[in-house]
Amino acid sequence: MKFCSECGSTVTQCVPPGDNRLRDVCPSCQAIHYQNPKVVVGTVPEWQDKILLCRRAIEPQYGKWTLPAGFMENHETTLQGAARETQEEAGAQIEILHLYTLCNLPHISQVYLMFRARLLSLDFSPGEESLEVALFDEADIPWDNIAFLTVEYTLRQYFADRRKGAFGFHMADIGRREAAASPVPITPEAATSQSQ
Ligand SMILES: [Zn+2]
Repeated sequence: MKFCSECGSTVTQCVPPGDNRLRDVCPSCQAIHYQNPKVVVGTVPEWQDKILLCRRAIEPQYGKWTLPAGFMENHETTLQGAARETQEEAGAQIEILHLYTLCNLPHISQVYLMFRARLLSLDFSPGEESLEVALFDEADIPWDNIAFLTVEYTLRQYFADRRKGAFGFHMADIGRREAAASPVPITPEAATSQSQ
């Protein structure tokens, strides 16, 4: 941040009293401009054996396939956000079943929450951010053209769970794609022991 959003003065970085990390602080009005992670919410819309994917009409990853997902808006719940993004990007009406994957992306300060969902009809169409929207069998998933590791991780869990006949909840830490790092699954037990 360069300028204070409250008064327009040039901000400086310092550790405020009682804090333990650098913040953007306004020397004129004393406002502290905290920056915290953003939450991305989306769905895995299913119709019988098929999954609905959208082909992106925007950067980043223009032309690649993704699950409908986007940043939460203020004053909405995670479920409302996931349903809204599914409507906006795929023109699809859904019933949300349950929280399915949680991905931490600490390198870009984002958290993904993806919900399993059931398409209510075959009435869907690309929104402004999508070139096309289509249903895919597992065999036809364009694995080499998936936009984000979070989406690939979620889809791989989905088809693995479906083969097992049981859908669990999955959590992973996901790093930069160029680092070729695989998602690191986190079990609730491991997360608990890490925080102790
Ligand atoms: Zn200010």
